[in-house]
Amino acid sequence: MCGITAYTGKGRALPFLIQGLEKLEYRGYDSAGITLVSNGELVTVKTKGALAALKEKLAQYDLDQHAGIGHTRWATHGVPSNLNSHPHTNLSNTISIVHNGIIENYQSIKEGLGMQGYTLASQTDSEVIVHLLDYYYEGDMKAVLRKVMSYLEGSYALCVVSVDEPDTIYAAKKESPMILGMDDTASFCASDIPALISYTKDMITLEDGQMAVLKPGHVSVYDGQGREVEPKFIHIPYDLEAAQKNGYDTFMEKEMHEQPYVIRETLRGRVEDRIIMPELDGIDLHAFDHVYFLACGTAYHAALYAQYLGREWMDIPITCVPASEFRYGNYPVNDRTFCVFVSQSGETADTLAALKMCLKAGAATLTLTNVLDSSLARLADITLYTCAGPEIAVASTKAYTTQLVMLAAMMVKLAYNSGYEVKDLDQFIADLKEIPNAVEAMLDRKNTMAEYARLLADQRDAYFIGRQLDYVNVLEGALKLKEISYVHADAYYAGELKHGPIALIEEGTVVIALATQKEVAAKTISNIEETIARGAEVILIKAPGIHSDKIERQIDLVPVHPYLTGILVAVLLQLFAFYTAKEKGCNVDQPRNLAKSVTVE
Ligand code: GLU
Repeated sequence: MCGITAYTGKGRALPFLIQGLEKLEYRGYDSAGITLVSNGELVTVKTKGALAALKEKLAQYDLDQHAGIGHTRWATHGVPSNLNSHPHTNLSNTISIVHNGIIENYQSIKEGLGMQGYTLASQTDSEVIVHLLDYYYEGDMKAVLRKVMSYLEGSYALCVVSVDEPDTIYAAKKESPMILGMDDTASFCASDIPALISYTKDMITLEDGQMAVLKPGHVSVYDGQGREVEPKFIHIPYDLEAAQKNGYDTFMEKEMHEQPYVIRETLRGRVEDRIIMPELDGIDLHAFDHVYFLACGTAYHAALYAQYLGREWMDIPITCVPASEFRYGNYPVNDRTFCVFVSQSGETADTLAALKMCLKAGAATLTLTNVLDSSLARLADITLYTCAGPEIAVASTKAYTTQLVMLAAMMVKLAYNSGYEVKDLDQFIADLKEIPNAVEAMLDRKNTMAEYARLLADQRDAYFIGRQLDYVNVLEGALKLKEISYVHADAYYAGELKHGPIALIEEGTVVIALATQKEVAAKTISNIEETIARGAEVILIKAPGIHSDKIERQIDLVPVHPYLTGILVAVLLQLFAFYTAKEKGCNVDQPRNLAKSVTVE
């Protein structure tokens, strides 16, 4: 999820590129770079680290070129380093590109390029693009870019400059964003609106498969067949601050709405008509006596989900423990133990300490994280990366749901590798692929969740109940509510309610119940009725086909495999927590006493 900027015009390109990257730094800050073009020469300056490092480096140069491209990176392939930074140039330094997205077939393209004598300087997937352009280039960049686009699988927003046309930027897009704009003397483009908004409020959104040619003061847009098409203009009525949040009031809201996209990116190349995940090839859990899942906070709930799937599909002992407990408990770990660590940041202190203990004991280790080259990623034997992009709101939303989809795919793959049969596997995989659309449908229910959230306006407490897999989901729902709205929320196994907590239910108490698992739904519905009998106001989230006439407030999930309902529930409960917090006037992005990445014990 990088940020891209490009400019061609009468003015200097560098100020536009840098101000744009500043606005896009929320999209990634592993490295930054620019290429400027003039007089038959490309000048590329790039460096590892945040934009500040690039600005420092640029201070040594006097760069007054009128066209160029810029990039701030959030690495997906290849560690954050100087070499892996964008832009990437061809060997003769005549073409330069910046890329946002993932090229799924980069390995096979790389092999093909190798046979033609190309050696790649970086470990990125992106670099193949510039060499492909170089290989096919015969003087017509528009034609060659179209050809190259037809070879690329995956997602991309691309900008290209070349010495042959020093005043022209070529841009292309598929599934990654690209916004263009112009004034009388210049044309520019970027990954997101904030980078352009000080220059124009009328912007063109490039559509999938389209390409644009930018000249000073003029933009032409072409479809996949190379035919010129009418550009699609949008008018942005809001100011810069709102633009940085994509028009939303808060980062949390923006990040919740990014979920369909980032889940799709996380599944990309991993879940097709079967689960791919080459990182897990050859791992047979029979080689181990015990599997541990270790994590903290929201990531711990994701780990509980994986434990549940593991226990359903395999008969290997699997234990999920909060990392903060594990490190002080007497858990047997040795070279026949397989340990999985889940952490958005890859820096969570307790999880890191647990990983070090497990490594010392000789265990096999796997990390699931959102941050390339983070401490956990560097230490573990195997790392799986979610593609959530930077998450700015403290309460995790998109990082959690991407963890869930990755763990779902991972558990299928491990079960398969270990010789277990997964019931309804085809349906599970088909529904997993469809999850981004199902999440979209859940986000469309935001008005209903906002209305339900008003029930908590005058309440101090809320109770979440569910059975089996739904118990994992209520744990996360209750945590989210506590984190951002400061409503005291407890999560219980629905069947445990009568063993104590029901004493707390009185007239007006809010109970959020989940019934997404058919086999136990009727039992949960009975438990709900016990709370209604004592005056509870119930909100029921359920799978379609589960009946519960007496409950006034009900919301149905779209139909998905029962083991995937948690992803949809998570989205609804994020919305519920969000609207409760708004109702109570809380700062949803920076809740009190919390930090985004907990690097202390
Ligand atoms: N895949 C590219 C890289 O790792 C671009 C990353 C992105 O857009 O997130 O450099």
